[in-house]
Amino acid sequence: MRLSRYFLPVAKETPSEAQIVSHQLMLRAGLIKQQQAGVYVWLPFGLKVLRNIEKIVREEQDRSGALELLMPTMQSADLWRESGRYDDYGAEMLRIKDRHERDMLFGPTAEEVVTDVVRTYIRSYKDLPLNLYNIQWKFRDEVRPRFGVMRGREFLMKDAYSFDIDADSAVDAYRKMFLAYLRTFQRLGLRGVPMRAATGPIGGDLSHEFIILAKNGESAVFYDSVYEDKDWTTTDISFENDDASKSARKAMVDEVLAAYAATDEMHEEEQFLANVPEDRRREGRGIEVGHIFFFGDKYSKPMNAKVMGKDGKEHVLQMGSYGIGVSRLVGAVIEASHDEHGIIWPTEIAPFNLGIVNLKSGDTACDELCKKIYDLATAKGLDPLYDDRDERAGAKFATMDVIGVPKQVVIGPRGVANGIVEVKNRKTQEKTEMKIEDFLKSIE
Ligand code: ATP
Ligand code: MG
Repeated sequence: MRLSRYFLPVAKETPSEAQIVSHQLMLRAGLIKQQQAGVYVWLPFGLKVLRNIEKIVREEQDRSGALELLMPTMQSADLWRESGRYDDYGAEMLRIKDRHERDMLFGPTAEEVVTDVVRTYIRSYKDLPLNLYNIQWKFRDEVRPRFGVMRGREFLMKDAYSFDIDADSAVDAYRKMFLAYLRTFQRLGLRGVPMRAATGPIGGDLSHEFIILAKNGESAVFYDSVYEDKDWTTTDISFENDDASKSARKAMVDEVLAAYAATDEMHEEEQFLANVPEDRRREGRGIEVGHIFFFGDKYSKPMNAKVMGKDGKEHVLQMGSYGIGVSRLVGAVIEASHDEHGIIWPTEIAPFNLGIVNLKSGDTACDELCKKIYDLATAKGLDPLYDDRDERAGAKFATMDVIGVPKQVVIGPRGVANGIVEVKNRKTQEKTEMKIEDFLKSIE
């Protein structure tokens, strides 16, 4: 992309309406524009990041065996009356009437819709286990939308729903998701710490929140330092349904959960102190990026979702649901990875992976070399961002840093004359000179 043709409204000043650094940087670096309280326009650059995160979330869901579908944002109140949640959900649910005065709602979650799909088509234990997910916009009329996309009213969520014949296999579905979550957050350059959670309005028996440790997190957290050190995903876990895979998954999840973590909402500090050796006790703040639940027949029973079992009898389906805040993750990643110059994207989600800074646009030699690098990088499948604007060098450097392009190559008249370019690492701010030929080879 040539910056002169891109739409990237970078601001020099820190916007005053934003209280936390991720929100400030998302506004400054031109990722989002607020449209109304808790509702945002995703500008081209922000959308690129959102899509990159969505892609990783999708790949790990697919890998775990879950199947993607797409459910509507607009749902009928009647389905929610069947489960009994229409009246219970409260003011966070946006209720709407159509022209026939029928009650509708903008989905805050989709247990009812997916249960209705499954009860329509699934008749036998042979069709199970089944896990269906979608990545779709949700609306919750939060009392206090704040921190930009971290607590929005409209937000993008990945929500998966598992259906099983009995509690045993449902718990195994839960473990599959648990491991898929660890891997997802790891690929995003984040450490997702699972904490046993209160189940809230979705309800149920077994539940974990995945928390990203970050200075500006909404909740205080207490955790065992092993969560800082261990890479939980180096062990390759199989998502097959055979007994060997099941017991391997159980062992792996048990190992993760043997370390201890709690949030202040649970008032478990005292238990925490008792459980973790003194030198491993850590206190911090965290952002909830995922939440998983096993809730048995909470929805399937009132909605009459049953299948025929091996025993020739009908069984009410056992369900779980699994959310990831995809749009919240954009803020969480920035919260966890930035410096005084701006955003530092983890490699897998960086929207552009090579920045090309032309120090003297209009100078034939500089223009030609920049174009050569740009064309080569594009041909090699890199996603380069070429700053070809007629701007001061300082402004160009600041732009590349605030939007967080991981690797930047700087081309100026003196360097070109000497056959040299400067290559900068965004994260370390290290600059190294390279021969033009060597740099071109490195792209090859
Ligand atoms: P919270 O406790 O933060 O309000 P929740 O428990 O209501 O979250 P869930 O119903 O578990 O959220 O939704 C799954 C995920 O969706 C959450 O883990 C979070 O990452 C994301 N999420 C929930 N509410 C919002 C919101 N208002 N804005 C952005 N993301 C959200
Ligand atoms: Mg929650």
